[in-house]
Amino acid sequence: MKIIRSPGEMYEFSSRAHRSGKKIGFVPTMGCLHDGHIALIRKSRQLADLTVVSIFVNPTQFGPGEDFARYPRVFRRDCLLCAHAGVDAIFHPSVRDIYLTDHTTNVEETSLSESLCGASRPGHFRGVATVVAKLFNIVAPDFAVFGQKDAQQARIVKRMVRDLNFQVRIVTVPTVREPDGLAMSSRNVYLSRTERQRAVCLHQSLRLAKRLVAEGITDTSVITRRMRQLISKGSPQVRIDYIEAVDAESLKRVGKVVKPILVALAVKIGSTRLIDNIVLRP
Ligand code: AMP
Repeated sequence: MKIIRSPGEMYEFSSRAHRSGKKIGFVPTMGCLHDGHIALIRKSRQLADLTVVSIFVNPTQFGPGEDFARYPRVFRRDCLLCAHAGVDAIFHPSVRDIYLTDHTTNVEETSLSESLCGASRPGHFRGVATVVAKLFNIVAPDFAVFGQKDAQQARIVKRMVRDLNFQVRIVTVPTVREPDGLAMSSRNVYLSRTERQRAVCLHQSLRLAKRLVAEGITDTSVITRRMRQLISKGSPQVRIDYIEAVDAESLKRVGKVVKPILVALAVKIGSTRLIDNIVLRP
């Protein structure tokens, strides 16, 4: 497994692979890898001849006061996991290699980015779209694999690829969960033991939403109210950022379940903000 740090060398690696007729699968990550990331790597290996994983904690997608500085960085451990998972190359650039000090060009999606995490984290998806566009140009993948765990991010990346004619196919992989249902996340390491126990309420509330829809409830305000009640009874340390039912395509709020909807939530457990979602069909 190659470890590549410079964008020039990364592009050279990909050009050589393409010249010899190989397809490249790409898994962009911020590191601190877990089984969710490994599922993405497995998917990439099914689709492509070579798999590249990027490990880059992208400063532009963190807002002021968010966890950029303390985001877990465990590069050596990540390398072992990638080697074990059959990754061909890790791209691990420095912030200065990705963002020159006088960098002034950004990519902004302006519709899907309005709701959900876009509303509570202004500028977040601009940072995401910009870094993903840059990584696509550097890695030049044929396929790029994203997790359904970050459903809004995957939708925005697909839209960007369509709107800006990137020659890459975006593939999404279902959310990988802990045995008790908590979605795997690099941020789960922040949780204390009691917070970790409380965090199962996110998944429980999504299961409740699924059950309500199965019982024939179509009014999304009833569904989100019941979810809110379930989560709020957790403890005062659990603070709901949002719980919303949106159209799975447009990510605009919907009042009734008549088409597939995305029920998405962001909840703070202590100081850790966690997100999760489920797609429900009428
Ligand atoms: P991150 O390192 O958190 O930026 O995530 C990198 C990629 O892994 C994104 O496409 C995420 O959606 C995906 N991912 C993160 N957690 C999970 C999970 N539990 N299941 C599936 N994919 C995930």
